[in-house]
Amino acid sequence: MNFKSYIRVIEDFPQPGISFKDITTLLQDGTVYKQVIQELARQLRDKEIDVIAGPEARGFVIGAPLAVELGIGFIPIRKSGKLPGETIEADYALEYGKDKLAMHKDAIKPGQKVLIADDLLATGGTIATSINLVKQLGGEVVGAAFLIELDELNGREKLGNIDIISLVQY
Ligand code: IMP
Repeated sequence: MNFKSYIRVIEDFPQPGISFKDITTLLQDGTVYKQVIQELARQLRDKEIDVIAGPEARGFVIGAPLAVELGIGFIPIRKSGKLPGETIEADYALEYGKDKLAMHKDAIKPGQKVLIADDLLATGGTIATSINLVKQLGGEVVGAAFLIELDELNGREKLGNIDIISLVQY
């Protein structure tokens, strides 16, 4: 399946110079969406993973169905102020902007093996911050999975020595 042909590229969104990879055109096709999740699951099946954590909002769109497919739990990583329980927070910089990410303090049991999932790896800032939060909670980050990877931004280099998979590269 040529997943790339289902992704729409919109130039100069959300600001001039950004070539935005829009996955909504892929998600609206249920067959293709399912194949994306099944292909990620296939590549991860032999890996020991206890839970998947994903940053809002598109990390939920990939991470939650992937967790269901693998039969494991899903943990939301959210923008500051959205989670109702006690949280820890960390600053992060995006390809375009910056913000704070938060996780519930009791989201992860110490020693749990965590896979981080998101739609897209750009500079790696979002995932580096997610890894930082998971580690603060005592989790062991065993890998990261993406639908899309923007090769020239070298996001992988920010993520240290973990297994990284992506299905579509630009
Ligand atoms: P990073 O932190 O620079 O790796 O940026 C990745 C985050 O920004 C992900 O959570 C993406 O959802 C979002 N993002 C950055 N660029 C794009 C894009 O071109 N399309 C969709 N999402 C993007």
